[in-house]
Amino acid sequence: MSLLSWRSQVRNVKSHLVNLVFPPVCVCCRKVGAILCQDCLEQVKWMEEPICQSCGCTVLNSSRLCSNCLKRPLPLNQIRAAVLFDTIIPDTIHQMKYRNAFALAEPLGMLMVNAWSKWQTHIDMVIPVPLHAQRQKKRGYNQSALLVNTFCQELSLVSNQQILFRTRKTPPQVGLNAKERRTNVTGAFSVQNPHLVKGGNILLVDDVCTTGATLMAAAEVLLAAGANTVSAYCLARAM
Ligand SMILES: [Zn+2]
Ligand SMILES: [Zn+2]
Repeated sequence: MSLLSWRSQVRNVKSHLVNLVFPPVCVCCRKVGAILCQDCLEQVKWMEEPICQSCGCTVLNSSRLCSNCLKRPLPLNQIRAAVLFDTIIPDTIHQMKYRNAFALAEPLGMLMVNAWSKWQTHIDMVIPVPLHAQRQKKRGYNQSALLVNTFCQELSLVSNQQILFRTRKTPPQVGLNAKERRTNVTGAFSVQNPHLVKGGNILLVDDVCTTGATLMAAAEVLLAAGANTVSAYCLARAM
């Protein structure tokens, strides 16, 4: 047995022991057994057609593009999401982000894995939407990077967290309208190591998509750095 697999066996045994002594509790219903139980997972509402073929928002009929995308075409090839920002999802994401429940990134990342076959597009590299360094230090982790870890591991995709950075600290987007959101994140991102994105098809990953303003700002700098296409895939769609 190699040292690496021996170490992972030890880690597995350790986590089994921890689970025996401190069994995980569902963050939604407090049932003992899993951090997100099967009953709660079954309440999730999957994103379904008809959606806008560009921004992925729900549309009433199967028109190809929504009125926003007709007026102002996205710099991204497509935005897609695994589930609706509804039922257990808003509170579960809140716990993952603000209450240190980072272990939720695994079951939530699996929702993204399970829905990917429906929305997949050709990609070369996955990049999480970064937090500003100060915010990440305060939180201790970037929830989108954790989702990317599960997503890429399960689907054998390549990710890189040394390309896209948030260089301007922006106030949270909550409570702002679409136009204010765009202004708020303009110039917030920068690209390092642009040779790594040149000609590549990039997939941006974030936890929640509302108006897409953050994804647009991030896509613009990646395209300016020479990316061939930028698409986005989020855990949940809020609008
Ligand atoms: Zn539950
Ligand atoms: Zn649209």
